[in-house]
Amino acid sequence: MSSPIDPPQERRFYGGVRRLLKRDAVLVRLETADGTVGFAPGGASSSAMREYFEGASHGGFVDLLESDVADAVAGADADDPTELATRIRDLGLPRLLESQAISAVDVAAHDAWGKAAGTPAYELLTGETADISTSLPLYASAGMYMEPEGYAEQAAAIRERGFGGYKYRPGLGPDEDRRTLRLLRKRVGDEMDLMVDAHTWWKIGECSYTFDEIVALLDDFGEHDPYWIEEPVEPGDHGAYTRLAERTDLPLAGGESEESSEGLIALVEDGRVDFLQGDVRHHEGFTGTMRAARHCAGRDVRFVPHNFGTNLGLVANAHLTAAAPETRLLEYPVFGDDVAGMYPFPLAEAILDTDLDLENGTLDVPEGPGLGVEVNLDVVEEYPEIEGPWTEFEYDEGVISDGE
Ligand SMILES: [Mg+2]
Repeated sequence: MSSPIDPPQERRFYGGVRRLLKRDAVLVRLETADGTVGFAPGGASSSAMREYFEGASHGGFVDLLESDVADAVAGADADDPTELATRIRDLGLPRLLESQAISAVDVAAHDAWGKAAGTPAYELLTGETADISTSLPLYASAGMYMEPEGYAEQAAAIRERGFGGYKYRPGLGPDEDRRTLRLLRKRVGDEMDLMVDAHTWWKIGECSYTFDEIVALLDDFGEHDPYWIEEPVEPGDHGAYTRLAERTDLPLAGGESEESSEGLIALVEDGRVDFLQGDVRHHEGFTGTMRAARHCAGRDVRFVPHNFGTNLGLVANAHLTAAAPETRLLEYPVFGDDVAGMYPFPLAEAILDTDLDLENGTLDVPEGPGLGVEVNLDVVEEYPEIEGPWTEFEYDEGVISDGE
């Protein structure tokens, strides 16, 4: 499915322009032999960046799920995620695709399993007696390449809605990025958490920030007390996280771009992050992300799920957050064309028939069986797929990189 951004939006960043054309989403439906149906959000891209570089197509991902993956899991039990994952692994898919296919099946199977058993997904993950928190504080995720004043206005609007945290994506160049955080902190005061999501942008194209520039930038950021710095280096470069952690006191976050739950655990082991961001859509569903979350428990790393897509994905990640040890906080992308929204994405809400219990920046996890929500199947007709990439980048000509 595609949710058009009409008219398309243009966002200027340091060294180019990004065009936003649409948002895509995949809805996965899994039916068991007794007719129980489970749903899952599908992710054909682990981040906007990765989609851009690898050109992953949602249509291709859907074809794969409907053919090889469906054939592989047919006849297996929905309450046996390990067997489902093994069968998909036997297909020998490229790693990222494999993780995303396992994710889709794992989450849909938990939904079906929970519905058949009359048990919410978070209880399937932990058992009834475990320490479960179903009232989850959300931090708002918005802010993408705008004037520093625009970020400040947006953060204030989001604070008005009751959110305790605001995450934004800088990338205006080191000077304007400095001015942005300074303005933001001044505007929202000391109480609000401010998460800086560099989103690998500091390492893109001809205008990459050098390592020393990043260190200097974080040095100045320290004065304004950011909650974390997310993906400040190449996401796969665990050594760069370690080197940066040696040069800054600011907490670092990462993980969304990892290709598997093994990658998430490796980032904790060979890299240095204070916050690990797994996502049920990308890191082998509930099974893989719970593995990563359990790895963080008892270590000096907090697991805070990455979440960016429709409300079905939000609910799935909320079940994970409720169940995962030492985990409470969850990312909430704010869409819409008002000042608080990133850009319009009406499909994000339309995909559910269930109204979510979301107030003052807190989400109560649906307590019904499985994921506890009704999916609105009309969206399949209402949001037909639009071919092509969801976003495009155009770089300025003649820009000279500082190099490294
Ligand atoms: Mg991010």
